[in-house]
Amino acid sequence: MSGTAEGLARAYAKRWLWKAAAPVAVPVFGVLTLLLIPLAVLAAPEASTAVASSSCSTGGTGASVAGMELDSVQMGHAQTIVTVAAAQGLDPYAATVALATAYQESRIRMLANDGSSPELTADQAAVTATSLTYPQDGLGSDHDSVNTFQQRWIAGWGTVAQLMDPVYAAEAFYRRLVAVPDWRAIPLTQAAQAVQVSAYGSAYARWEPLARELTAMLWPTAQATAADGSGAAPGICPDLPVPAGSWIRPTAGTVTSGYGSRWGAPHAGVDIAGPRNTPIYAAADGTVVRAACTSAYCDRDGNLSLAGYGNLVELDHGGGVTTRYAHLSAYTVTAGQGVSAGALIGFQGSTGNSTGVHLHFEVRTDGASVDPVPWLASRGVDLHAASAG
Ligand SMILES: [Zn+2]
Repeated sequence: MSGTAEGLARAYAKRWLWKAAAPVAVPVFGVLTLLLIPLAVLAAPEASTAVASSSCSTGGTGASVAGMELDSVQMGHAQTIVTVAAAQGLDPYAATVALATAYQESRIRMLANDGSSPELTADQAAVTATSLTYPQDGLGSDHDSVNTFQQRWIAGWGTVAQLMDPVYAAEAFYRRLVAVPDWRAIPLTQAAQAVQVSAYGSAYARWEPLARELTAMLWPTAQATAADGSGAAPGICPDLPVPAGSWIRPTAGTVTSGYGSRWGAPHAGVDIAGPRNTPIYAAADGTVVRAACTSAYCDRDGNLSLAGYGNLVELDHGGGVTTRYAHLSAYTVTAGQGVSAGALIGFQGSTGNSTGVHLHFEVRTDGASVDPVPWLASRGVDLHAASAG
């Protein structure tokens, strides 16, 4: 298991560095060039957040979790924290403690530190400020604390370079957590406080509901990733080299309903059912034209008397081709954002006009729906083939 965790860590580190070197430059820049005017008008604020440093960031806004809005930078770091727990063979509660702690300490953001805290000597300040040279989501200034957990190099957590690696940060947290006696049985606040040596430990408990829901949402992907001995992290940071113009299966699961007439009504897409919160990926390179709740409510499962797609993501692939991903429990992208084939865009749910968890997937050409099964088959993707996960 440790070998797998090690490979996973390295794979993440590489992706983190890649993001640092080329923050979504390839997909977003291409789209920006083509769609400069609409992007500027519709999504100027998102354009800046899309260049976030998260190892798994897909840009834009993230998910609504326990009544709180988390953006994709936060969701990306949360997934990393949960996945490291799964890779180390820990139970989900470890991830819950870590997420509550990270939310309290940094709002789950990778914080650098400019060393301006008056408690630091000049030498300590200089070392602390080297954190600014790593990918980061913002700046903190508490002593020598850095990263999502606000770990301190002076306190022996690791070098600044190590602490600015989100995988190392999570590993360091869990190393100390499992050394806390009875960490599974004592209140979350006490466990977190023992790890963090924080004077403000009682604040951690406030985020327990959020952390529990996040863990439930992200654990299936974490487990799938941990079980993949190659160290690849398809559910989190999809492998980038999907050749330009290629299509992929948008989610794992079984085709439960085909395209065409159903109960006397047209069915404009295909239904693919997997477990709740199974990740959903962009089927091809494109631009998000819509990511929104399209029903009266999307904060809970819908039913057949509720109209609409529920949470819907729609992608424009150019050439008049669009795809729709409906009934999502949550989405991780925002309108105007460019996505690559394989980018995480949301999770399977049952919002809107739906009676069970599934993805309703549509392909449209010039606005008219076509059967996604032959469409994808002619592009090398067999939706009826057994899928992983
Ligand atoms: Zn459907």
